[in-house]
Amino acid sequence: MTMKKIAIATAAAVGFSLASFGAAQAADQQFISIGTGGVTGVYYPTGGAICRLVNKERKRHGIRCSVESTGGSVYNINTIRAGELEFGVAQSDWQYHAYNGTSKFEEAGPFKELRAMFSVHAEPISLVARAESGITSIDDLKGKRVNIGNPGSGTEATWNVVWGAMGLTNDDLALASGLKSSETPSALCDNKIDAFFWLVGNPSALNSEAATTCDVVFASVDNDAAKKLIADNPFYRDATIPGGMYKGNPDDVTTMGVGATFVSSTAVSDDVAYEIAKAVLGNLDDFRKLHPAFAHLKAEDMVSKALSAPLHPGALKAYKELGLK
Ligand code: GLU
Repeated sequence: MTMKKIAIATAAAVGFSLASFGAAQAADQQFISIGTGGVTGVYYPTGGAICRLVNKERKRHGIRCSVESTGGSVYNINTIRAGELEFGVAQSDWQYHAYNGTSKFEEAGPFKELRAMFSVHAEPISLVARAESGITSIDDLKGKRVNIGNPGSGTEATWNVVWGAMGLTNDDLALASGLKSSETPSALCDNKIDAFFWLVGNPSALNSEAATTCDVVFASVDNDAAKKLIADNPFYRDATIPGGMYKGNPDDVTTMGVGATFVSSTAVSDDVAYEIAKAVLGNLDDFRKLHPAFAHLKAEDMVSKALSAPLHPGALKAYKELGLK
């Protein structure tokens, strides 16, 4: 080989190895996005807490986790289905209906590729009303101005189920508004609405904001319709908003609730699902400290309760390793 040929061969070899090194680096970097909810809810900090634990180990696994504020449960599930989000937080009732193609998901059909990762905090219905409105229970909402949740939220979808189970439609309200959650405390305190309804972990920044800005009451949701929904469906449960949790509300409030769950789909690789599940369940003490709504989470419940879609195989592998399955 002449010198010139050697030089070209060497350059080609170096070029080739640099190119393959670059390709290997790029392949090792994986971007994942978590769909959450409004910034003053609990889903948004939930996504933040998950990403924080995942990103700590980024050098080892190459996963870059980020959080998106979204409209909530139904939006998150639909966007995972469209392949535009890898993960999302969703209410247990909408996880169930999406997987089975029932209720709001009847038209779209069963989302059989939906996979459960783990469940998180409980989400009792918060029905927050202006103190002077006289509203103390969901039965008092007839003829009132109520924010029922923004389109795409699990809140709005569950409102339609609960209000419908009471034999009522939104025409029985003076106003059914669909403001996004972060806008509701000011709408309430500015007297634009009498109450807002939503499903959220406690304590939430939004409920605190309403309770500290004006005089509010937390109304109950424990009529016959609610009791029947709980009795008939595995994804609804009795729930309490503890007295003293929010300013001006010294007594426990009886309501109904769902569980917040973390979901994904078969489009996400087992390796990625494994790393996410392990980052959270393998560091549960750290996770619990990242939001007061997580304070009492138990690993055994998180890997089994409120999940109706099958567990993602990558998550299952992590739970077996951790002795949870
Ligand atoms: N459960 C609510 C929804 O899907 C969101 C709650 C939150 O943002 O913490 O509508």
